[in-house]
Amino acid sequence: MMAVAVATPSFAAANSSNGITAVEVRDTVSLKNKKIPVDNSWDVIVVGAGPGGCTAAIAAAREGAKTLLIEATGQLGGMGTAGILNAWCPFSDGEKIIYRGLAEKIFNESKKGVPHEPADKLNWVSINPEYLMSVYDKMVMESGAKVLFFSRLAAVEKSANDTVDAVIVANKSGLTAFKAKVYIDATGDGDLAAWAGASFKRGDDNGVVQSSTLCFAIGNIDQYRYGNGPAVQSSFRSKAGDLIESGKYPLFDNFLNDKLVGPGLLGMNAGHLVNVDATDPWALSEAMMTGRQKAAQFVAALAELYPDIFASAFLSKTGTILGVRDSRRIEGDYIFTVDDWMQRRTFEDEIGRNSYYLDVHKDGYKETRYKKGESHGIPYRCLTPKGLKNVLTAGRCISTDEEAFGSLRVMPPCLVTGEAAGMAAQHAIVQSKNDVHAVDIKYLRKRLKEEGQYFL
Ligand SMILES: Cc1cc2nc3c(=O)[nH]c(=O)nc-3n(C[C@H](O)[C@H](O)[C@H](O)COP(=O)(O)OP(=O)(O)OC[C@H]3O[C@@H](n4cnc5c(N)ncnc54)[C@H](O)[C@@H]3O)c2cc1C
Repeated sequence: MMAVAVATPSFAAANSSNGITAVEVRDTVSLKNKKIPVDNSWDVIVVGAGPGGCTAAIAAAREGAKTLLIEATGQLGGMGTAGILNAWCPFSDGEKIIYRGLAEKIFNESKKGVPHEPADKLNWVSINPEYLMSVYDKMVMESGAKVLFFSRLAAVEKSANDTVDAVIVANKSGLTAFKAKVYIDATGDGDLAAWAGASFKRGDDNGVVQSSTLCFAIGNIDQYRYGNGPAVQSSFRSKAGDLIESGKYPLFDNFLNDKLVGPGLLGMNAGHLVNVDATDPWALSEAMMTGRQKAAQFVAALAELYPDIFASAFLSKTGTILGVRDSRRIEGDYIFTVDDWMQRRTFEDEIGRNSYYLDVHKDGYKETRYKKGESHGIPYRCLTPKGLKNVLTAGRCISTDEEAFGSLRVMPPCLVTGEAAGMAAQHAIVQSKNDVHAVDIKYLRKRLKEEGQYFL
């Protein structure tokens, strides 16, 4: 095996938004005496196996690339599985399904895990995270892409000509350098592209991000009283006000979204953790622990407010990963703006359509929705980070402004950007010496159409 010498990424000391101060880094060590083994057998490496990373890996492998999918946890699916999210955002524009190709296939397969949902339902369909995980497992395995779990991106090696040479991964083998021709950053936080030097924005002009949520599940509800739901969210705000005001449950707040995800089992997307910096491990650690306490207080508060449903209920699980809505948005050749969203803009290089509303989790923000049948295009140039030749982004770290991000961050468009990035990665290898900025867009769109993607 070859070996590389590598510098570790420097990390800045930071005050976390939650008040925890990171250990100040005054000193650094160099790993100059450490040899890191190299695995250089890959065409495409995808880092992060959320919805964007899974479709990227499947699509790259399907196009013929020898593909490796690297994931920090032991699960495929990101927020939809490890994060125990309770529902898919709408798959339709109000009239027809518009997230097609791999997105539609994964959505349809996942529905078999929630037989209480009507078979033809397209919007806000519940997720059984365990079942969805098995769908991703099967589809990724069948594509031929290889998966490396419990492996976290730790550093990125770049050559002078804006080309990423290797990603350094930390796992039970220690450090290993993996080399590919093209890399896809599907980490949600844009770790790979940012560490390779790409420019990015995080949050609004003041750096304030949308609130995070640690999702949780409540078992043994009275399903007869609950029905098929959601039975709580419609009356919750009017009922919960006094209890929140009373301070009896100090972490109980007014954000709640409940879905029946299995017999007697509610998936809860509830409680806000304000302005958590997902790139600060200290802030993340505190948010996980506060989130778990919050979840327990929600269960106790719900038993007081809705005793007929929750009297015998219990907190059965919290997410393995924090629900981070908002993190780095890697600057691409094009930045999709809220004006593009408002104008329902169509692009020559679009790789799919999106119709989800502007959904920004910040106090006082008023959401904006399209009318039935309306949508906008998602430009390919939002997936190509400026200044990096052989890197693509997929999922929620693509190039948008903060408000438009409120729409494009959810799972259906993340599945669509993943499929396009995976295809484009292999096309760049074949057509343009790994240059993702020079792929033949007409051919990419032709291939996406052949695989079922929707365009106007
Ligand atoms: C609280 C909350 C509620 C939401 N509600 C909905 C909803 O109801 N419906 C909906 O459709 N969408 C919803 N969304 C949006 C959606 O879940 C996410 O935006 C979407 O999952 C993003 O997909 P992704 O592939 O970009 O990344 P993620 O799903 O975030 O997955 C990223 C993956 O990368 C891995 N990873 C990260 N960093 C590294 C690293 N350095 N090395 C290796 N692996 C790494 C992570 O472990 C994870 O598996 C919600 C989001 C949140 C946070």
